[in-house]
Amino acid sequence: MSSSTGLDSARVGGDAPAQRRRSLPLVGGGEGGRRAAVIPYRDGARGAPSAHAGPAPRSVRISVTDRCDFACTYCRPSRHDGYTDGRLMTPAWRTMFEALRDAGIRRVRLTGGEPLLHPEIVSIVASLAALGFEDLALTTNASQLARLAAPLRDAGLHRLNVSIDTLDPSRFREVTRGGELARVLEGIDAAIAAGFSSIKLNTVVLRGVNDDEIERIALWAWERRMVPRFLEVMPIAEGARLVGEHLVTAAEMRARLAEHLLQEEAISDPGLGPARYVRARRDPSLRVGFITGTSDTFCESCDRLRVSSTGVLRPCLATDDGVDASREAKAGDPAAIQRRLDEAWRLKPDGKVWKGCTEETASAVSIRAIGG
Ligand code: SAM
Repeated sequence: MSSSTGLDSARVGGDAPAQRRRSLPLVGGGEGGRRAAVIPYRDGARGAPSAHAGPAPRSVRISVTDRCDFACTYCRPSRHDGYTDGRLMTPAWRTMFEALRDAGIRRVRLTGGEPLLHPEIVSIVASLAALGFEDLALTTNASQLARLAAPLRDAGLHRLNVSIDTLDPSRFREVTRGGELARVLEGIDAAIAAGFSSIKLNTVVLRGVNDDEIERIALWAWERRMVPRFLEVMPIAEGARLVGEHLVTAAEMRARLAEHLLQEEAISDPGLGPARYVRARRDPSLRVGFITGTSDTFCESCDRLRVSSTGVLRPCLATDDGVDASREAKAGDPAAIQRRLDEAWRLKPDGKVWKGCTEETASAVSIRAIGG
């Protein structure tokens, strides 16, 4: 169903998220026991509805590391939830990138974990840039961006997304479990100074936590000619605990920004992900984006593959299904990786019936390892 907002098609609050609602503390808590670093995948499994007949893989999200210096409450249970062993080393990543390019992948996004914690991130970006991908982007929490923005730009990175959920320093510390807002703001300034244009901000909106900042963040971003984007919390990983109580739908977010926005249908950028954008009333060259990962999933047109930090090819963020291509990557064999890629893509859930991160399986995955 579409409407004047263009955003309120509401499979929202579907049964699954509501049933999963639990009253666990949202911030500050949960630092209890160290959990084993279990990042499972089911090799060749078919837990999700298959018979995938959608598009061929054209975009990839690569988790170059599952390490993160933040532990956002909707992503991780604590700072001590364990990391995966067996990460791919840079030569194996290079083989992987070549195989992805040869398989017809056109758009690459580096993510994690926190990709800027990878000690060789600049050379990884340079390797990808040398392969001539149409689009080369990176999603970061910006804690390391002040020192890395210029080198990344010089290495050939095209675009940057920065995750920032609040402009209040103490709230920021709570949501990220210890993150320093000032460093993130310095990182954003450095990225603008390095020449990145139209930087996109990702803000996960949580009722009762930061939903009073939607307008402030949008205006702040526009002042710097960035593109604020507001995300519904998804019932994936730790988000599964929060969605019932804290979900703010994109339709509601848009309504709260109504006085600043043109009355028009929200539209996506073709080939650039599920966000839908609306232009600002005061200057239509400014936009705001909304991502409806819970109220309206977007699997039918999904052409996205994911590669975990250990080299597992994953057809979907919301399941543990995947095909391990690490051996082929370490052996320097791109053709063999491509065969594994075909196997992985056959496991892609059928987007006509699959409801992405609102599926039961999503609450058990590690978004850090698969690559959010
Ligand atoms: N460390 C990087 C960063 O902070 O941008 C990249 C990894 S992070 C997992 C990627 C994005 O996933 C972030 O924008 C984060 O807010 C989003 N994310 C993680 N868990 C989520 C959830 N349960 N619902 C919605 N978005 C989520």
